[in-house]
Amino acid sequence: MHSIQNNKTKQPPITLYLLAGLIPFSAYAFYHLTAGIFQLGIATLINALLFGLVLLHNCFKPSKRWHNHVLVFSMSMMVIIGCNYVGIRGLAFMFPVIVALFFNYSLRRAMVSSVVFSVIGLIVATNSIDPLIVARISIPVALTIAFSFLYAKTIKQHKYALKQEAALDYLTGIFNRRSISKWVETKVSHIQNNTLALYFIDVDDFKRINDSYGHAVGDQLLTTISQRLQNAVHHSVPGFLNIDCKVARLAGDEFLVAIADIKRKNDVEIYGDKLLKSINKPVVIDGISIDVHTSIGVAATQDSDIEPAALLNHADVAMFEAKKKGKNRIGYFNKDLADKLQEKNAIAQRVKNSLEQKHFYLTFMPIFEEATSGIIGAEALIRNDHESFNGITPDKYIQVAEEYGLIIDIDLYVIEACFSHLQDIQPALLKQKFTLAINISSLELKNKQFPAQVEKLVKQYNIPTSLIELEITETSLVDYNEDSIALLNQLKSLGFSLSLDDFGTGYTAFNQLQHYPVDTLKIDRSFVWAIGESNNNKGFMIDVILSLAKLYKLSVVAEGVEEQHQLEYLQALGCSHYQGYLLSKPLSWQELKALINT
Ligand code: C2E
Ligand code: CA
Ligand code: CA
Repeated sequence: MHSIQNNKTKQPPITLYLLAGLIPFSAYAFYHLTAGIFQLGIATLINALLFGLVLLHNCFKPSKRWHNHVLVFSMSMMVIIGCNYVGIRGLAFMFPVIVALFFNYSLRRAMVSSVVFSVIGLIVATNSIDPLIVARISIPVALTIAFSFLYAKTIKQHKYALKQEAALDYLTGIFNRRSISKWVETKVSHIQNNTLALYFIDVDDFKRINDSYGHAVGDQLLTTISQRLQNAVHHSVPGFLNIDCKVARLAGDEFLVAIADIKRKNDVEIYGDKLLKSINKPVVIDGISIDVHTSIGVAATQDSDIEPAALLNHADVAMFEAKKKGKNRIGYFNKDLADKLQEKNAIAQRVKNSLEQKHFYLTFMPIFEEATSGIIGAEALIRNDHESFNGITPDKYIQVAEEYGLIIDIDLYVIEACFSHLQDIQPALLKQKFTLAINISSLELKNKQFPAQVEKLVKQYNIPTSLIELEITETSLVDYNEDSIALLNQLKSLGFSLSLDDFGTGYTAFNQLQHYPVDTLKIDRSFVWAIGESNNNKGFMIDVILSLAKLYKLSVVAEGVEEQHQLEYLQALGCSHYQGYLLSKPLSWQELKALINT
């Protein structure tokens, strides 16, 4: 599509111009200085330096303010010295400085201004019949014009190249998110009866490919996919020829194909199938054959919102749905998804309002220790007292909050609320064995500011971090990377303990446990509930988790204990900590405080 591939935009040869400008100016100054015409010599020398400075500055950091100071200074000096030397004709000496102004202009303006100024200059100059003075004044004028022209032209080319670069994805050379969004916007405003369809393409398991074969292979794979998509829409696939479409990479392993003028509705699906087929073929990189699968989400103007941003969001939602249904397939945005999306939007809005209007509060689920049957901790669980949350469980709104990025605020709210509860009783708690567990979202593992934000609250409330355990779900570590492990280590070094929540559901390769700086595994309630059921492997999982915990010297909490026989089974296996409705439902802070005698 475009030829710029991996090409960094060439810088204009500023240094060359700088030198080319400075040499004649300096020579001119040198000539006058050695000829004993000091005023003119010094003035031109200063001028040459300023000329160079302005160019240099403009090259790295275009800013009119700094530029203007130099101009005012230089111009006044030139005019003073010039007028002193040749009277009113000295005005002509400001021309080389005025050129600096041109650099902020467009090419046409720079040309017009320099021609106007040169004409004035020449009129002033030819007032004199002395050919030497005419020459002296004309030379800088001529130089000025030449450099302003060259410079303005290069800047223009540079800006154009930058614009091109900004419009294209640096890796694949195809459109980026911004340019395809613009393209879709213009197309949407022009389609009439035809359909515009967006195909949101996400590579399945790209992270695994990247991790297994390295980033260089990952990059090559993305480049190949971009080529396949372009070939599909522009060349090889019959039926794709001459359609009005664009291919873009949105981010990472996400691509977008936009087709603007689909005349028959069922063509939307035909094109989707063609795209899927054109990408889903093995790629051979460095002799390694890699299977490529993608999930595609499709949103078309016929059955979706016509607003481009919403359309893109709908394609994204449809892609997400395709992933959920098992990947390697196409999902179409439809009424069902539209309803779900609307519901989520409404929940997100309520979460936002609740954060502002302080409708969230906490309950505390006690955690019991087998040895003493006493409470050795509690887990903070979020609740909402607003009627609009009736029937919406935390499971649901926490998930929506994660999707809409609101979870960061929720987590900070919960942490701060816990700290503020703990503030007055923490001296008493330090004397007994007690840990308050706080759930944090998996998104925090990507939030670099999180440790600092928590640390700030720790200082503000003066909370001993040994009292706090942070719970992250095991599934959040499925696509962990070194950064998230580093972040967990940072939290650990602040003194928090860490637990892996819903353990057993995330398919952690058990030998990876040693890489996670965690202290506790929380056995997911589904395994506890399966105790006693015949023919299931889930009870067996509890054995496995307990052995693992022993191996890695981690403590274990079994969640969701509802029945006596579950408790007995766990006790028999040597599980040391439990929580669940059998032992206690979530309590208010006052109730918890009474129970732990503080
Ligand atoms: P989770 O972290 O696994 O929390 C345990 C959930 O199991 C809680 O549901 C708790 O009330 C419930 N539970 C505990 N024991 C029993 C039992 O014996 N029987 C039954 N049926 N349920 C039991 P809840 O409060 O609805 O929370 C659901 C999920 O929402 C939590 O799962 C957690 O993932 C999330 N969540 C809750 N509070 C917060 C919070 O403050 N911050 C964040 N980021 N997530 C939270
Ligand atoms: Ca939890
Ligand atoms: Ca859990």
